[in-house]
Amino acid sequence: MLRVVETQCAQCRTATSETVLADRLIRTLPENEVFGGKLRIVECNECGLRYLNPTPDVRDLGHIYDYDVYEDSTNNNPVLMEHFYRTLTRYVPKPQRLIEIGCGTGDFLAWLQSQGIPNVEGVEFADSANRVKYNGPLHVGRMEDIDLPDASYDVVLLLNVIEHLSDPQAVLVKIRRMLKPGGVLLLRHPNSDLFFFKPYWLCVEVPKYLMHRRLMKRGKRTGFTIAGFQNQHLFYFHRRAITRMLNSAGLHMQHFSTTDPYNRLRIGKSLKKGKPIEAGIAGVRHVLGSIGLGPECLSVATPQQ
Ligand SMILES: [Zn+2]
Repeated sequence: MLRVVETQCAQCRTATSETVLADRLIRTLPENEVFGGKLRIVECNECGLRYLNPTPDVRDLGHIYDYDVYEDSTNNNPVLMEHFYRTLTRYVPKPQRLIEIGCGTGDFLAWLQSQGIPNVEGVEFADSANRVKYNGPLHVGRMEDIDLPDASYDVVLLLNVIEHLSDPQAVLVKIRRMLKPGGVLLLRHPNSDLFFFKPYWLCVEVPKYLMHRRLMKRGKRTGFTIAGFQNQHLFYFHRRAITRMLNSAGLHMQHFSTTDPYNRLRIGKSLKKGKPIEAGIAGVRHVLGSIGLGPECLSVATPQQ
């Protein structure tokens, strides 16, 4: 059994006025069993931040990430890498020094190096991180505990990581210090505005749940047990909560979008293949993304003057 602890809002540091979200679903998830079924998703009535409370004990986080099939699933596909690169170079056309927090096996860093960014570095919590694919320093450990130089980076990447951190606010403050004047943070996280089906909370969790099942099978084949894939998310951000947290960390949001570059590609491809229904679905997803209801949020933030 893994341990849980009572926590408070990581942003306004209050422990009052919480609304329980998706209770029926999260209580019965197989991933919650290892925590004695105790994990709950709550919403702070002060600031709207959504988070797990009780949450996994930080002393057990190692167990949650302790599986050998861990790999960089988000960033090693060319469409997304291109999309991220184009977004960040709009603000920093020629980045010289870049760091990715939660770099996994470093696929995206290797790709960025091939685009001509001379100095790339990574931070990774999981110990499988020593199998990195890029040429540059790797800092192993929790971002909360690692020392990195001030005013040194043109770009900090935090892609699908902030929702895993024990203290996201402290990490954003640290990032603000690490950025050069004019440097940017590229930030991506799941969009908790898709919780509109509460109490069932379908949109965000079902794909991850399916992925978990697939990983479980893979784990069995390779002799590893995967514990709590689902519940490695400790926070569930939406636009209002992330804007507020960036501001209180001394960062200013320059760009926000939930569009997925795939959908536009899919419209064209499906039409070419003579599949108008698929093209229609991609079209609807594209429109939802452009009005803030895509599954992932991408934002760019710079240090406040
Ligand atoms: Zn709060």
